[in-house]
Amino acid sequence: MIEASSLSKRYGAFRALDKVSFEVHRGEVVGFLGPNGAGKSTTMRILTCFISASGGTARVHGHDVFDQPLEVRKKIGYLPQRASLYGEMSVWEYLSFVADMRGLDHGVFKKRMRDIVEVCGIGQVLGKDIRTLSHGFRQRVGLGQALVHNPPILILDEPTSDLDPNEKAEVIKYIKEIGKERTILLSTHNLAEVEAACPRAIIVSKGRVVADGPLDEIRTKSGRVRYVVTVDEQRTFDGGVELRKGSKKAAPTAQEVQDALSALSGVSHFKELPTDDRAHSFEFLGAPGTDARHDIFQLCVQKGWYMLELRREARSLEDVFKALTKGDERLDRGRKVVVEDDEDEAEEDAAEDEADDEEAEDEEGDEGEEDGADDQGEEEAEDKAKAGDKSPSGKKD
Ligand code: ADP
Repeated sequence: MIEASSLSKRYGAFRALDKVSFEVHRGEVVGFLGPNGAGKSTTMRILTCFISASGGTARVHGHDVFDQPLEVRKKIGYLPQRASLYGEMSVWEYLSFVADMRGLDHGVFKKRMRDIVEVCGIGQVLGKDIRTLSHGFRQRVGLGQALVHNPPILILDEPTSDLDPNEKAEVIKYIKEIGKERTILLSTHNLAEVEAACPRAIIVSKGRVVADGPLDEIRTKSGRVRYVVTVDEQRTFDGGVELRKGSKKAAPTAQEVQDALSALSGVSHFKELPTDDRAHSFEFLGAPGTDARHDIFQLCVQKGWYMLELRREARSLEDVFKALTKGDERLDRGRKVVVEDDEDEAEEDAAEDEADDEEAEDEEGDEGEEDGADDQGEEEAEDKAKAGDKSPSGKKD
C-alpha cells in the first residue's frame, strides 16, 4: 500500500532524509517513530505529495507520488501535525466543506458522516464552532477530515502531540478503531502510543531507518534478551512418569543445571538467583535476535527436570529507542555527508552550498511551536520543489 524506496530529501546542504526505504502492507497500522527532527514529517509530506523528494521513489496504493499525485491524494487521508481547521466554521460545515473539495455528493457525505461521527466521537460537537473546541476535539475533527472520502490509507503525523493524557488516550482509541479497516502510518515520538496502537514500528533516526519490524522483534533484535529459568531441585521424571528419589536420573545439582544451560548456544552471563522454592534458579543473557526458549524446554524434558519457571524479557521499547536514536542531531547530517555521497546530487558549486547552509540554519531556527514558523518552512520547501526538486530530472529513479 505504501512503498518508499531510497527516499532522500535535502534542505540546502542539510540532509533531512537519507535513502529511507520501507513498505506498509494492506491493513497494517505502523508506528513511525523517531525523535524530533528525525525526518518523520518530511517523509509523510513526501508520501502525501506536499513536497517532493530529492531522490528515490515512493508509491502509494500503486501510484507514484511524483507522477500521479492526484490519484495518490484520492487514496489517502492525511492529518498533518497541525491540521488547518477553520475556526469560524461549525464541525459539520467544515467537514461538509472538505467533502465538497473532495467532490463528494451531498448524499454520500451524509452517509459517511454516520460512520465518522461514531469512529471519531464527534457527535456532541457537530454544531459547535471549531474555535470553541478543546485541542483533543479538534484533533478528532482533523481525523474526521482525513476520513471524509473513505480512503483506504491514513497518514497521521503526530496526531496526539500537545494533547493531555486523557485526550491522547481517546484519540489513540479512535485511531485503533479506524485501523481495523484501513492501512495507517502513524508518526509519533511517544512510545506508549506505539505500544498501544501499532503491532509494527519503523524507527527513524537522523533521516535513516534504524529499525523496522514487529515491536517484539525490534525489542529483541536491538539488545540481549534476559532469561530466568527455574527447575525443581528434588523431583525428576522420565517418559512422563515421575521418578523416585535415587533413580538414575537423579535430581540435579545447581552446577549441573548451570552447566547444561550454558552449553546452549549464544547464552552467557549466568547468575544464580535466590528462590523460596526448592529449586535452582538462574538468570542469564541470550544473543540479540535469538529465542532460546524452545532449546531450554527441550533440555529440561531430555534431562527429566521439572521446569518451574521460564521467563524471557526483551529490553523495553524505550531502551531500544534511546539506544537506536542516541545523538540524533541535525549537525550530524551536514554538508560533509552530502559531499561524500556520489549517488545524491551533491555536485553543487561551493557558493550555492554556502547559501543553502545559511538558509537551512535559518529554517532550523524558525522551527518553532507556532504554526507560522512551520508554514514558513513548508513554503520554502515548496519553493525549492518548484525551483528544482519537482522537475523530472530532480527525481531519482
Ligand atoms: P520530525 O518530523 O521527525 O520531527 P522533520 O521531518 O520535521 O522531523 O525534520 C527533519 C529535519 O529537517 C529537521 O532537522 C528539520 O529541522 C529539517 N527541516 C524540516 N523542514 C525543513 C525546511 N522546510 N527547511 C529546512 N529544514 C527543514
